[in-house]
Amino acid sequence: MTQRIELRTTPKIAATPELLKAEAARAAALPKERIVRVDIVRRSIDARQRKVMVNLSLLLHIDEVDESALEVAVPEYPDVHDAPQAIVVGAGPAGLFAALELVEAGIKPIVLERGKDVDARRLDMAAISREGRVDPESNYCFGEGGAGAYSDGKLYTRSKKRGPTEKVLRILHAHGAQAEILVDAHPHIGTDRLPKVIKAIRETIIRAGGEVHFRTRVDDLVLSADGHRCTGVVDSEGRVWEGPVILATGHSARDVYHLLLRRGVDLEAKGIAVGVRLEHPQELIDRIQYHSDEGRGKYLPAAEYSMLTRVDGRAVYSFCMCPGGYIIPAASGPGQLVVNGMSPANRGTRWANSGMVVEILPEDVPGNDPLRIMHYQEAIEKRFFEASGGSQKAPAQRMTDFVDGRDSKDLPRSSYPPGVFAARIDRLLPEPVSRRLQAGFREFGRKSRGFLSPEAILVGDETRTSAPVRIPRDDESLNHRSIEGLYPCGEGAGYAGGIVSAAVDGIRCARALAEKQ
Ligand SMILES: Cc1cc2nc3c(=O)[nH]c(=O)nc-3n(C[C@H](O)[C@H](O)[C@H](O)COP(=O)(O)OP(=O)(O)OC[C@H]3O[C@@H](n4cnc5c(N)ncnc54)[C@H](O)[C@@H]3O)c2cc1C
Repeated sequence: MTQRIELRTTPKIAATPELLKAEAARAAALPKERIVRVDIVRRSIDARQRKVMVNLSLLLHIDEVDESALEVAVPEYPDVHDAPQAIVVGAGPAGLFAALELVEAGIKPIVLERGKDVDARRLDMAAISREGRVDPESNYCFGEGGAGAYSDGKLYTRSKKRGPTEKVLRILHAHGAQAEILVDAHPHIGTDRLPKVIKAIRETIIRAGGEVHFRTRVDDLVLSADGHRCTGVVDSEGRVWEGPVILATGHSARDVYHLLLRRGVDLEAKGIAVGVRLEHPQELIDRIQYHSDEGRGKYLPAAEYSMLTRVDGRAVYSFCMCPGGYIIPAASGPGQLVVNGMSPANRGTRWANSGMVVEILPEDVPGNDPLRIMHYQEAIEKRFFEASGGSQKAPAQRMTDFVDGRDSKDLPRSSYPPGVFAARIDRLLPEPVSRRLQAGFREFGRKSRGFLSPEAILVGDETRTSAPVRIPRDDESLNHRSIEGLYPCGEGAGYAGGIVSAAVDGIRCARALAEKQ
């Protein structure tokens, strides 16, 4: 027999199985001996009050263990070796989950990925940090797993589509992600564990009969004479790959946006957010968020935060917060400097970083060019690159100096591997962005005492927050608005922001494609 109960308890009890069992027995009014196992089904930390508490949803196994109670359903993948095929461009979360869903629907996915496999990518990423050299085909954004592979692996999403979201988590778990992702309110895999999961997903696709081709960059679409039907793609070697196309190339494939524009495909400018990475000592964030001079103590994880305000009608907010993480160089081509953040599974570094960004709307950049927000983004990245003397060392400024508009005489150590140097970020960013960030930081400092700190530094720039372009599609068929057989998908098309929402969009596009077959 099993019984579900809700429990609000201390971090120590939540983290200590014997204490938790005793507490659960009390809450369920049962003798402790009758509870043979306690499974945590849902866990969230409530740090809003001075005393931090943990909210738990528990499954109690009474008298005997019921293994069936927590079985996690995983899809069955039929053999698709001889099935009709569809092309998936890009092996990021959107592309990989689209490919899995195609297999489930009995279609053979042919995945074309410009970058290298997830292991070979590592060397190219190390070269960015060591030598400042960015391989335009293999970097933090391009390669197997996409921008998601060496990301933080935070898996929460604001998406309301519960069904597919849970499916994504179940599939990730079935491919090696830790069971906690099915339980935690803020699930997180960690950059050190993601590659294994991505490889296992590739193996599932290939075992079922799908194909995954690395170092295969798509350079063109096969379009009908009237331009309204897409029947395949052409790669950089001139090879033609036939089938309906799921285009899941991510927000950094600028050449793909140029290709689409050249081929007369409808595009729209889309808003993004730009700013900096803000890095605090994790210990300071723990003290602030857990309201304690002792910090997080033995039983709490590295603390997170989330900040949001509006300045002059534009949102200023924290983005992709990485407790216990690193800042990393996320350029995807030469002549760019752009940073991002990630963290390992144990969130064990002594730094906390997050993007601190200001909303940019299409009307903030004059003109009608659908690529104008992308050009705006490129110009900032170039400016920071030039300020660094053409290296991947990043400009940095103490948070308080940024707010007061003055030089930083020195800098604390940063997690950013290529290194940082003191610079006037307030002058390098576009003036409205600096001004709004300064006002936002003042407000965050008022709301959260200690947050606006000279111990914190800004490292710039952060511009790859989402796609600067939307590839418009029909709401029902998910085809491009005027091109049948072309399914713009994931973050690059403007329909996702993050690993889970990109994966969910991949599933939706694959289902839409399968319905048409
Ligand atoms: C450092 C970092 C940390 C992040 N942390 C998180 C996080 O913790 N949680 C979260 O939810 N999100 C995070 N993100 C964002 C997340 O990774 C993206 O939202 C997600 O990967 C988008 O998925 P996607 O499949 O749409 O695109 P992408 O992941 O960008 O994948 C696109 C793929 O297409 C390939 N491609 C591009 N052009 C071509 C072409 N012409 N031919 C063939 N292939 C092509 C690329 O090489 C790439 O592999 C992070 C991003 C970065 C960079």
